[in-house]
Amino acid sequence: LKTLRLILGDQLNHKHSWYDDDSTDMVYFMAEMRQETDYVRHHIQKVVAFFESMRNFSQWLEEHGKSVIYFKIDHPDNEQDLVKNLNKLIKAHDIEKFEYQLPDEYRLDEQLKNFCNDLNLETEAFNTEHFLTSRTDLEQFYKGKKTYTMEYFYRDMRRKYDIMMVNDKDPEGGKWNFDQSNRKKWKGKPEIPHERGFRKDVSKTLEQIEEAGIKTIGNIDAYSFNWPTSRPDCLSVLNYFCENLLVHFGDYQDAMDPDQIYLFHSRLSFAMNSKMLHPKEVIEKVIGYWRENQNQIDISQVEGFVRQILGWREYMRGMYWMKMPGYRRSNKLDNQNKLPDFYWTADTKMNCMHHAIKQSLDHAYAHHIQRLMITGNYALLTQTHPDEVDEWYLGIYIDAIEWVEITNTRGMSQFADGGLVATKPYVSSGSYINKMSNYCGDCAYSVSKKTGENACPFNSLYWNFLYEKQEFFKDNQRMNMMMSMLEKKDQKDLEALVSRAQEIIKNPQNF
Ligand code: FAD
Ligand code: SF4
Repeated sequence: LKTLRLILGDQLNHKHSWYDDDSTDMVYFMAEMRQETDYVRHHIQKVVAFFESMRNFSQWLEEHGKSVIYFKIDHPDNEQDLVKNLNKLIKAHDIEKFEYQLPDEYRLDEQLKNFCNDLNLETEAFNTEHFLTSRTDLEQFYKGKKTYTMEYFYRDMRRKYDIMMVNDKDPEGGKWNFDQSNRKKWKGKPEIPHERGFRKDVSKTLEQIEEAGIKTIGNIDAYSFNWPTSRPDCLSVLNYFCENLLVHFGDYQDAMDPDQIYLFHSRLSFAMNSKMLHPKEVIEKVIGYWRENQNQIDISQVEGFVRQILGWREYMRGMYWMKMPGYRRSNKLDNQNKLPDFYWTADTKMNCMHHAIKQSLDHAYAHHIQRLMITGNYALLTQTHPDEVDEWYLGIYIDAIEWVEITNTRGMSQFADGGLVATKPYVSSGSYINKMSNYCGDCAYSVSKKTGENACPFNSLYWNFLYEKQEFFKDNQRMNMMMSMLEKKDQKDLEALVSRAQEIIKNPQNF
């Protein structure tokens, strides 16, 4: 049967079993489409990274003897819509069967299901052969449970895949979790190696994107593009991580510094989310390197890394498929405010916010704690509507694809799911930020002041949040300590804090 096989932009899995098939009646189809560039306003580097990676992947397919139809954004036959493109190709090439890999996004999953239902041809959906769990494994794992603590799922995954285990049942190193030793502030040492960067010329692709009129956010250097866009690039970032960064990964996982964008982070999220690297391959490589260098690299650095990929990444995907489509509308804390304009300009006097946003605009990247405890913390404390927060996170990061963005943003960061992903809201006053970062020293605000003109905005916002949302947290045991501190607050002090917080919420541009 003459078969059309669709490959979506985040399905660049070189190891997929599809490509073992040498039959000549297979046509592969890939397309850059307005449908995908316009569902949210993306960072320009994200659009470029996807287009470049897709182009490299299609070239790789052709080099391996596959027949590929590739629509660039300006291809004259490109209808800019998946269904229209598919219908047109099926007709033009006398296609007898349509095949696709299961999408990771609910939106595309629905679109392709409906398309196949309407199609008068044989169709077949395939696994992407990327994840370590199926869409429904997480739901099965937590069946009958009231809470979805990630830790238990992670331990199960360690056992199931025999990763860092002794005698099939005990964790290597005697502990499942080394988080306690993973919380150091970075004070200028150890030296941070330069990231494994790239200096690619992407000016042609950029020109095509601009000519097409695609609206984007953020900045780009078209002659020095810094992200991996092929499998060899991605493997090189992985090797570099093992050889240079793994040694301190866990220690400084939560650290933040105004001049250090990547610290000891891997920069592998785009490589994995586009499927150019397989999560198992990443984990195995990192553990293999550690075993060869065990006298230099502590287990806590490695466990911290494995947990993110084997634990959090798979957990978020499972949560997505368990809770969609309702998850997309969840707003359990009933937050209604607008996201301040400075999220698109970095024009704020708050030094931590300025740097976290500026580097996101410049590099399409911020590491986890910046996303969670700086920009996410501020959005939650100012009671921003989760739709607005989601839109920003879905657009701005190089790695932002809904299955992993929305669960992190709405769930972990904004507590909009009422505590499915996070057992308590990730909120903090300025003191946590000061403890983990080097932002406060150069800030216009004083982190130790609670009220008054130059008091750190996070301080009053924090108490105001607890005060205003106390009804939501009264039965949450993990909030007991915070709530009892709130109760003990002097009434006058609390009034001053609430009044300053209201001023910040009403006039964010003044801060
Ligand atoms: P490293 O710190 O080196 O970690 C290694 C890998 O672990 C990452 O590449 C990633 O694949 C995985 N990982 C780590 N934390 C998480 C997590 N919480 N959930 C899932 N995987 C994780 N990650 C995305 O891939 N896409 C997103 O759109 C995204 N949005 C986020 C939004 C918010 C509000 C928050 C708090 C986190 C978000 N994350 C997202 C998770 C995390 O911040 C990024 O995966 C990480 O910063 C990517 O940088 P890195 O590759 O250098 O990660
Ligand atoms: Fe951020 Fe407050 Fe520190 Fe300024 S003082 S950097 S606003 S935490």
